[in-house]
Amino acid sequence: MSNIAEFAKQKPGAGPKVGLVSLGCPKALVDSERIITQLKAEGYEISPDYDGADVVVVNTCGFLDSARAESLEAIGEALSENGKVIVTGCLGATPDLILDQYPSVLAVTGPHRYEQVMKAVHDVVPPRHDPFVDLVPAAGVKLTPRHYAYLKISEGCNHRCSFCIIPHLRGDLVSRPVDEVLREAENLVNGGVRELLVISQDTSAYGVDLRHRGAEWRGRERRAHMTDLAAALGELGAWVRLHYVYPYPHVDDVIPLMAEGKVLPYLDIPFQHASPRVLKAMRRPGNQEKVLNRLAAWRRDVPDIAIRSTFIVGFPGETEEDFEELLGFLREARLDRVGCFRYEPVDGAPANDLPDAVPEPVKEERWNRFMALQQQISMEKLDEKIGRRMTVIVDEIDNEDGVICRSHADAPEIDGNVIIEEPLRRLRPGEMVDVIIEEAGEYDLWARMPDEA
Ligand code: SF4
Repeated sequence: MSNIAEFAKQKPGAGPKVGLVSLGCPKALVDSERIITQLKAEGYEISPDYDGADVVVVNTCGFLDSARAESLEAIGEALSENGKVIVTGCLGATPDLILDQYPSVLAVTGPHRYEQVMKAVHDVVPPRHDPFVDLVPAAGVKLTPRHYAYLKISEGCNHRCSFCIIPHLRGDLVSRPVDEVLREAENLVNGGVRELLVISQDTSAYGVDLRHRGAEWRGRERRAHMTDLAAALGELGAWVRLHYVYPYPHVDDVIPLMAEGKVLPYLDIPFQHASPRVLKAMRRPGNQEKVLNRLAAWRRDVPDIAIRSTFIVGFPGETEEDFEELLGFLREARLDRVGCFRYEPVDGAPANDLPDAVPEPVKEERWNRFMALQQQISMEKLDEKIGRRMTVIVDEIDNEDGVICRSHADAPEIDGNVIIEEPLRRLRPGEMVDVIIEEAGEYDLWARMPDEA
């Protein structure tokens, strides 16, 4: 929802296009699916032919001589048809073989090197990061480590929020069939993913367009419905994190799954505002009291639940009274993670026609007040965690800062970190480890490993 002006400068519609030629065994197919998932999550489109592609990825097989010959032939074809080619897969394990024959190949990576493939794609055709439309944070586009993956479950949106042009750009909600989503998730987990980040424009509406039509997965019928999907994903043994959940009543139904440990106790619900007047102008549902009651009920059932939200300040017609109401809501709601954007008009959004634009200095001043209050709340909430034991996932080993991890309360790139400065043993990215929290900052926590870890 941020930096809307930047978006307005860009041509709406299609993102960069990537062609993918996939050869080889089912394992290579999993790699290809993983690459496609990541590309789509970052806003790339998959081109069905060479002509329309900005770059072509050839996922090769090198097991048998015949497979090698086929792979080399496919690389040659892609080069002559398109010219910009990245090679990955088993044959990529012997880059000299490829580069001797085809020196103009742009990059060669071995099998399962998704990150390197993504980096090579970014180098040729950078993702058109669009902070208004994209579901993956800008930093997440850089390089998604192999231990977490975005799982996109639908496209488009049935809502008509007045500040948003996504329904205009992407159309109404189109959900992916539930068995397709689950198979992709299963492949991702089999390929080493330890955390699935469920994304869509409106995750809680999943399956509405399919009338929640069911399909079989692992021998059982599953409905295309957020609750069933979350429960099924919970069977995979990976962390499941739900993003972009619109506050429908049935969101309450995933809370028991969190209490049972099947889904991470984390909900990303963009509330956008708290004043009923502003919410009405935004064409968003809103009943502050109800929301506060629901938050209290969720916290009663899952005391550990982390709630993330985003808000817009300075929406047309927002008065000082409306803004005070928003601050009052923040004080009461005590959300764990919060993003706040100053309203900016987007070309084509109905909100542009609303009267009483808020002057820029007022927007700025409100944004500062909002952030100062939330920072205070965030610090207090993090302070409460000192002394507690929790499981964290290792993201990165940083030689200077220590081991950078995240807890259930932290989505990658947008939330905070848990840092282990002195690990008791060698840790690897993707590993889950128990820690005891020792120190809290404004957004991050510092922890130690207990002796027995
Ligand atoms: S819920 Fe509203 S803000 Fe979100 S994508 Fe749909 S129309 Fe846009």
